[in-house]
Amino acid sequence: MALSFAIIGGGWYGCHIATSFRALGFNVTIFEQHQRLLHGSSGNNQFRLHLGFHYPRHYGTRIQSRDGFSRFVERYPGLSSPVPQNIYAVPKNDSLIDFLTYKLIMTSSGIEFRESPTLPDFLSNVEGCLHTPERVLLLEKARQYFTQRLGPFLVTDHRVESIDDRPGGVYVDGRRFDYVVDASWGHFIQPPIDLFFEPTLLLYYEANAPFPAVTFVDGPLCSVYPTEDPTLFTLSSVPHTPLGRFNSARDARAVLDRVDTALVTDKARLMEEQIKRYIPAFSDTFRFVGPQLAMKTKPLGSFDDRSCYVYQNGRIFSVMSGKIDTIFFATERILSMLEAAGKDEAVGKESSSLRAEIVNVDRLPAAV
Ligand SMILES: Cc1cc2nc3c(=O)[nH]c(=O)nc-3n(C[C@H](O)[C@H](O)[C@H](O)COP(=O)(O)OP(=O)(O)OC[C@H]3O[C@@H](n4cnc5c(N)ncnc54)[C@H](O)[C@@H]3O)c2cc1C
Repeated sequence: MALSFAIIGGGWYGCHIATSFRALGFNVTIFEQHQRLLHGSSGNNQFRLHLGFHYPRHYGTRIQSRDGFSRFVERYPGLSSPVPQNIYAVPKNDSLIDFLTYKLIMTSSGIEFRESPTLPDFLSNVEGCLHTPERVLLLEKARQYFTQRLGPFLVTDHRVESIDDRPGGVYVDGRRFDYVVDASWGHFIQPPIDLFFEPTLLLYYEANAPFPAVTFVDGPLCSVYPTEDPTLFTLSSVPHTPLGRFNSARDARAVLDRVDTALVTDKARLMEEQIKRYIPAFSDTFRFVGPQLAMKTKPLGSFDDRSCYVYQNGRIFSVMSGKIDTIFFATERILSMLEAAGKDEAVGKESSSLRAEIVNVDRLPAAV
């Protein structure tokens, strides 16, 4: 009989794992506490299909992104679209690394880019920039795609309250499954690593004319990135987007619940001031629309690791999500952990059979 999986969380990770497991013939039930899929961070982020350019300080993340990008485009061809002009710019004095080092890191990681001989004239205080084929994620299409595919296996408006791992199966709110995948980004079961929850505030802006995606790297910088709506952009800032660090998701949520117009106005001022250092005409091009509130789950440490990890405890897998392009690693790790467990059982305590296969010298024809 096919294995049964309960998947907790209908974000990008839960949806991808559920559709992949369905395709492999497993029985899947996906629980989402909200009424629709991609409601949490998966529906509230900068919608960038990363290629690795964001992570000059973490090799593993860069490589997962580089590989995940191509796999994403192949697997979900209709769920992202190209960004006509997508620029990563290294500011002259404020970046943690210089342009040449940045370029060498990307080259040595096998990440595709084009360098233009001249800098775009709307940029200021920039040492150099790369043009990249990074894409934008299409949220509404993704929601429709997964809702259509997972409809019969989806339990929405259901917040999972309990998991009970017993010898014969694992029980999710009383229902039995062979395995559970917690894809709640650490909100239900906390993965066994030191992590924190970061409430975030991005700002939506309307552009009065087409504008490129521009990301300033590396360090406490900012970016303006298009969305699926060609007139709508997000403005994000490394120092100003986070609203604190918390040990529990509940404390982080409380901060989001208290966000008021004074805070949003203040953040808009700070973020606009910051980006105008590099795009002086920002205020002539963009009009503030409103904030986007979300939450990140991050590993502790200043090493900038945003790759995906999976942990197993009995019949329960917990996923520490990376970026959206790294969903494939979650599925593969769960499958290889299952495979490894099955192999141990199948192989048992047998010793090597190699000796029995060695040709017996006594049976060879005698030398003439
Ligand atoms: C400000 C910001 C900008 C970002 N920008 C980008 C970007 O440009 N590109 C990129 O690739 N990534 C970006 N990210 C990261 C990206 O959003 C995450 O990697 C991704 O959304 C994680 O997906 P997930 O499915 O693990 O988590 P989520 O999308 O958070 O999904 C988890 C789901 O679990 C549900 N859930 C939780 N507890 C329970 C429970 N007990 N019972 C039932 N359901 C439950 C939640 O409701 C939620 O829907 C950004 C994140 C933020 C916050």
